[in-house]
Amino acid sequence: MSGDRSSTAARSTATPKAASSGAIILDGKAFAAQVRQAVALHAGEFASRFGRPPGLAVIKVGEDPASCVYVKSKRKACSEGGIASFEHDLPAATTEAQLITLVYALNHDDRVDGILVQLPLPNGTDANRVMDAIDPAKDVDGFHPVNTGLLAQKRPKLRPCTPYGVIRLAEGYGIALRGLRATVVGASNIVGRPMALELLLAGATVTVCHTGTRDLRAEVERAEVLVAAVGKAGFIPGEWIRPGAAVFDVGINRIAPGKLVGDVEYEPAARRAGWITPVPGGVGPMTIAMLLSNAVAAAFMRAGGKN
Ligand code: NAD
Repeated sequence: MSGDRSSTAARSTATPKAASSGAIILDGKAFAAQVRQAVALHAGEFASRFGRPPGLAVIKVGEDPASCVYVKSKRKACSEGGIASFEHDLPAATTEAQLITLVYALNHDDRVDGILVQLPLPNGTDANRVMDAIDPAKDVDGFHPVNTGLLAQKRPKLRPCTPYGVIRLAEGYGIALRGLRATVVGASNIVGRPMALELLLAGATVTVCHTGTRDLRAEVERAEVLVAAVGKAGFIPGEWIRPGAAVFDVGINRIAPGKLVGDVEYEPAARRAGWITPVPGGVGPMTIAMLLSNAVAAAFMRAGGKN
């Protein structure tokens, strides 16, 4: 794979930046900006055709500091992208029944094309029951079992934002995933599992690692594509990275105020990899771009129009 690096990079639609260390840095921030421009155009087309902008309801329960930051940036991105944002900031004491009642009301609100419930929810609220209440046609996070099931059956509709963002970033840089050996480290419902389904859909041969994996190092070492989604700073040593591999680091770990790092030990990994996402500025911005993309896609699908 490392042998065809220059030719695949040449097919890139983004502008790769050469890393001083050797790997091409996958500039998710720049590529996400391109995606968001295209999404804003689509949102404008929707508005002129249907007389209203696409609408996204973002529900936040409580004051978890990280959630407040994420929700703020999602709402800002909506307004920049021509998407109407419906804000629902609820107190931490909100019961599961109250939350589900709100979700049902939004399911029936015609101005709302997408519903996002920011996770985590306060203790005592079953996130699965809340997510299951969302109309799958408005499930812009792609977490509803119907949307996960459609992805598993090779007929994706609303796709989970982070895994879909990784795929779009790879496509943008001309990384042809078909036939590659891909390893996903992490098997959560929101990242690892749907990531494996996305890679499978893209034609990769996929291994999923988790806490029960016997020899993680061996699995990582043979990966031509590595996606790390564990949530532990520098968990994957750089020396495990296969030379020339494409490394997508989903992890976001705050190690000091204002200092975020990924799950992969960045500097040594970047010396060995063919491509690598930085943290921040890699997968994170793509997640928001795909959320906006899903919101506009949901609007068109609900309106019965072409996306
Ligand atoms: P999670 O805690 O739900 O899942 C972590 C996974 O890692 C689990 O499946 C677990 O089995 C696996 N794991 C833990 N220890 C392991 C070990 N020793 N060996 C192998 N596997 C192990 O976390 P998540 O919600 O999937 O998020 C993972 C990371 O991605 C977090 O840092 C989170 O903040 C980040 N994240 C980033 C974005 C983004 O947009 N960039 C989006 C979502 C999540």
